[in-house]
Formats: sequence, structure tokens, C-alpha cells
Amino acid sequence: MQTRISHITYYVDLKSLYIQFLGCNLHCPWCIRKLTPWDHHLDKETLVGIKFQGLLTIEEFKEVINGVKELEDAVLGGEEPTIDPSLPLIIRILREHNVNIRLLTNAYEISTELLNELVMCASCEVVVSLKSLNPEVYRRYVGGELNTVLRNIEKLIGRGIKVIFETVLIPGINGPAEVEEIARYISTITDKPTLIIDPLVPIPDTPWRRPTNEEIAEAARRASKYVNVVMHERGRPSRVVVLYPRVSVKTN
Ligand code: SF4
Repeated sequence: MQTRISHITYYVDLKSLYIQFLGCNLHCPWCIRKLTPWDHHLDKETLVGIKFQGLLTIEEFKEVINGVKELEDAVLGGEEPTIDPSLPLIIRILREHNVNIRLLTNAYEISTELLNELVMCASCEVVVSLKSLNPEVYRRYVGGELNTVLRNIEKLIGRGIKVIFETVLIPGINGPAEVEEIARYISTITDKPTLIIDPLVPIPDTPWRRPTNEEIAEAARRASKYVNVVMHERGRPSRVVVLYPRVSVKTN
């Protein structure tokens, strides 16, 4: 069975996999994947040598996983994992390895099969990227209907699945006031509301700039009235290696 996995990296010090899927059902103009299709934590030399080698089959995915000696966590992300029909099976395989799983999703399409798999997965956490609470922003920029996302969030929470949220701080479109609105909304739908705030990384030829430190602090302060705030860039550092595609090693 074919997956949509195009890339897997391993964070040595964290014993964590980052499994990246190719393709998305939305088209945010600020999508960081426009900068590179590869894990942006990789060093420049690795990024130069890496080439697309096709999507993995389930068997190939299992081989990669079986080759990892120490494995505690796995992040499923990249573009949009939920567009992969084999995602429930991928989650099941990871569960068999007793891995903590974090699924990053825009929550635009959540199949019944995926919901059922997540319900059975005590070690799974879903991180929903909520771009905005403005339907017009969703329609115009993100390319979808906000209500579809909100309904899927309700479904996830209603089935008892652990859900936290992420949003991108974008001055002029999703600034501190809008982030506060998102925080207030999620505080009304979950018991332990958590919001990851990612400052925008500007994409060439788009009109949005990086937020200032003051704007980042203001967004965090306003959101923290309602939710536990996590700033994305404060992750623990780790050495990162590529497990797929295989990177050629220079011998001279
Ligand atoms: S939903 Fe995520 S992966 Fe898809 S276009 Fe938007 S930012 Fe990129």
C-alpha cells in the first residue's frame, strides 16, 4: 500500500521521528513549505544533498521504523497527513512500537476511520492548526470553509481525543487581537486549552511581515488570559538526521 510519506527525519537527542507527508487540501499563502519541502531543522549541507526519492509504501515505512533503535515520540506533519488514506494504518504501526504520537493537522478532512483509530490511541495527541476564526480569511486565503474545521474539532473533542491548538501570528490578518479571540474560543471547548503560537516566517512575494517581538509578547499575554500558551521556537535542541530519502554520503 502506498502512503503519502515523502520524508522522515530523526531527532537523535529527543528519540523522536518527524514523518512528513506530501500534499495538502488547503493552500495558505504563508505556508512554510514554500521555503523548503524538507525538514527546515536540517543543516545546509544536508539540504543540498537531499533529493526526492518517491513516496514510501507501508512496507518501506515499516523497514524505516524497525531500523530505529531508540524511539519514544513521532510527529506526523509536513504538509497534511490526513489526505493520506493510509494514515490510520500508520498510526496503528506506530502504536505497536509504543510511541507517543503527535498528529499535526489543519482538521479539514477527518475520516471516520481516522477518528476511530485516534479514539483507540491513548498516546496520541492532535495539534489542530487553526488559521483564523474569520470565515472570510479561511475562504479567501486558506482556501476552505471555517465551519468545516470547527465541526471536525467538535468531532475530535466529542470523541475524547486529546486536542491542542496552533496558530500563526500574522500581523494584519491574525494579529494579537485575533489570536486572543482564538484563545478565548478554545477555552470554551476544551478542559485544558493549550495554544502554540508560531510567529510568521515571511514567504517571498507575499505581503505579510514577521511579527515584532512586542507583537509576539502581546499575543502571548492576551492569549494566556484563556489558555496555556506555548511559543513554538522554544523546543529542545537536538541533532537531526535524515532516514528518508536516503542521503548520499561523499567518500572523498
Ligand atoms: S494547511 Fe498547513 S500544509 Fe496546508 S497549505 Fe496551510 S500551512 Fe501549508
